[in-house]
Amino acid sequence: MNIDAKEIELIVQQVLENINAESLKFPRPCGGEDGVFECVEEAIEASYQAQRRWVKEYNLEDRKRIIAAIRTVSEEHAKELAKMVRDETGMGRYEDKVQKHLAVIRKTPGVECLVTDAVSGDEGLMIEECAPFGVIGAITPSTNPTETIINNTISMIAGGNTVVFNVHPGAKECCAYCLRLLHKTIVENGGPANLITMQRNPSMEAVNKITASPRIRLMAGTGGMGMVDALLRSGKKTIGAGAGNPPVIVDDTADIAHAAKEIYRGASFDNNLLCLAEKEVFVMESEAEQLIDALQKEGAFLLDSRQMEAVTAFAMVNKGGSFQVNKKWVGKDASLFLEEIGIHGHKDTRLLICETDSGHPFVQVEQLMPVLPIVRCRTFEECVDLAVSAEGGNRHTSSIFSKNVDRMTVFGKEIETTIYTKNGATLRGIGIGGEGHTTMTIAGPTGEGLTCARSFTRRRRCMLSEGGLRII
Ligand code: NAD
Repeated sequence: MNIDAKEIELIVQQVLENINAESLKFPRPCGGEDGVFECVEEAIEASYQAQRRWVKEYNLEDRKRIIAAIRTVSEEHAKELAKMVRDETGMGRYEDKVQKHLAVIRKTPGVECLVTDAVSGDEGLMIEECAPFGVIGAITPSTNPTETIINNTISMIAGGNTVVFNVHPGAKECCAYCLRLLHKTIVENGGPANLITMQRNPSMEAVNKITASPRIRLMAGTGGMGMVDALLRSGKKTIGAGAGNPPVIVDDTADIAHAAKEIYRGASFDNNLLCLAEKEVFVMESEAEQLIDALQKEGAFLLDSRQMEAVTAFAMVNKGGSFQVNKKWVGKDASLFLEEIGIHGHKDTRLLICETDSGHPFVQVEQLMPVLPIVRCRTFEECVDLAVSAEGGNRHTSSIFSKNVDRMTVFGKEIETTIYTKNGATLRGIGIGGEGHTTMTIAGPTGEGLTCARSFTRRRRCMLSEGGLRII
């Protein structure tokens, strides 16, 4: 049989039309594997079904057992996850990422933080308990991607919820790997499938579908203020964990050697990717030289003003007089900044410091880079004024090095941050070398603070009237 090219073209066209018609009649299910779905609608529905089972068929002991298994498997894979995150995002430092993983694995509270209130009196017994919201939509950042997944998973499922994640596109592979790992662990330990889910390719469209879905009862957004504001505008109940720009004050009573050690550790940790890391220092004039010397002794490299201008020229983008970070340089090693301005041979340098005025973009903009500006102030009051202004009303994190308790109180009241550390690196404020639990979702804007399982629950009251069950 002889068929010419024209006829072949017609046949192919007809076949394609038929395929399209068929697929419209019977849309191909996009399915999911180990919690990772091709389309978000199915992820939401699967998490909804899982949540109904999670509250009906499983008890608190099950939650404890499954969370313990999640901790074990995450700890076994902490180094691998840290390496994957470093490789995929190209940001931060491997050894610090291992520490961040271990902190969330070991110090994110489980069901133990779900406290019940009880009132017993002549008119009966009242209890108020922490009940699940249902399915939570969680948006996660590129700066702590898998750390936030582990942290949010423990907190949210401890509260009886299930989660649909929309992860940062720049960290989607390590996040999918981490989610699959946790998902498999949940199922192997007898838990329901799809307790945690995500769309394989995250997108803004998926975020919109998550916020619009009636199945989603709560949003939890961890990232920049653009995202937090978008979630708040969506009309869905939102726990928002947004940006910070943490200032540090060093006054003339501080132990300067100790302050330098702590500031160096905090500001260089994971190349300053943590939202709560020290971003600018306000030091009283009399201590400035000593602090700069002590920071150099710790290993910091002091840039002169010309070198700092050269760094600013490539690490910041000037948009008509207002500065934004050049994302290419977020979380990069300090030595790479030096190489870019022609200074070689400083591979081990973890932090660059420079004296600037308080209006410098590195002071005013949240830069997430291992470059720490230092501003001299004539008085303590000036330190406070400039620190409050640089913090920009985020009310996220701040710190002070001082032995004067009155000054600590004054600054604490003025700055109103969710985390306030005294005489220690700010990372101690999330339990890395400090007391208290760890979280990667610090909800300043919406007020939940350092989130834990309790933050992702709603209060429900049960009233047993006329002395029922009371024994006195
Ligand atoms: P980012 O805002 O670029 O992205 C965060 C997430 O939001 C991603 O999943 C992204 O896809 C999504 N997103 C971005 N714009 C959005 C919009 N308009 N609507 C809906 N979703 C949107 O942040 P990043 O660069 O990944 O992370 C760094 C930022 O996050 C910094 O500002 C840092 O301070 C902040 N952060 C805050 C906390 C906290 O606990 N408060 C923790 C980690 C990071």
